[in-house]
Amino acid sequence: MHQLGQAKPRERLEYIVVHERAHLIEPTHDAQFSALPALFLPQAAELRRLLNALPVSHQAWNY
Ligand SMILES: [Zn+2]
Repeated sequence: MHQLGQAKPRERLEYIVVHERAHLIEPTHDAQFSALPALFLPQAAELRRLLNALPVSHQAWNY
C-alpha cells in the first residue's frame, strides 16, 4: 500500500479536499476564492501554511 498518509498528514489532506471543493464555487484563485476554504474549515489558513512547509519529493510508483 502506498504511504500517501505519511507524506501528507490527514489534516493537511483535508485542506486539499476543502480547497478543491471551494473550486466548485469559484474556479479561479481570485480574491473571492481565497475566503472560501475558511468557510468550510476554520483552521484553513494554518493548515495551508503547514502543507506548504512540507518538503516536496518524488516517489516512484512501481504498480
Ligand atoms: Zn486551486
